[in-house]
Amino acid sequence: MDLKDLYRDVILDHNKQPRNFGRLDPCDTSADGNNPLCGDRLTLTLRLEGDRLTDIRFEGKGCAISTASASLMTEAVKGKDQAAITRLRELVHQTLTAHGEATLPPAELGKLAALAGVRDYPARVKCASLCWHTLGAALEHHAQRHADHGPATVSTE
Ligand code: ZN
Repeated sequence: MDLKDLYRDVILDHNKQPRNFGRLDPCDTSADGNNPLCGDRLTLTLRLEGDRLTDIRFEGKGCAISTASASLMTEAVKGKDQAAITRLRELVHQTLTAHGEATLPPAELGKLAALAGVRDYPARVKCASLCWHTLGAALEHHAQRHADHGPATVSTE
């Protein structure tokens, strides 16, 4: 299966049947993401045990790419520790922003490799990366929870 087929199939599937959709209540941390260029909005709620992300859900409204990307992300990061999540965030970022030759996405991305298809649509990269930025904000917010901070909010603008 080539990357374009993978992209189309995975994005369609996850947009139609988003995984981990909804809201965790109670949760340990949350963050809102907003991509004004496209109108994508999402809210992540997370549960953590020590360093491990034990559960994550997302809700919101956005285009097919933002919804599918968030759905894929929740599947990929659930159960992982923060170091593994940071590594995935870096790989996804590299994959989304790689230019030039048809660089194959790293195998450890698994299904997230489908996001490489977004490279053909540069205007949509922010749709795909919104959930990852929001995840970073939620984790940072959690790390700082003893300080007096308001709810975490990120914007790609
Ligand atoms: Zn979008």
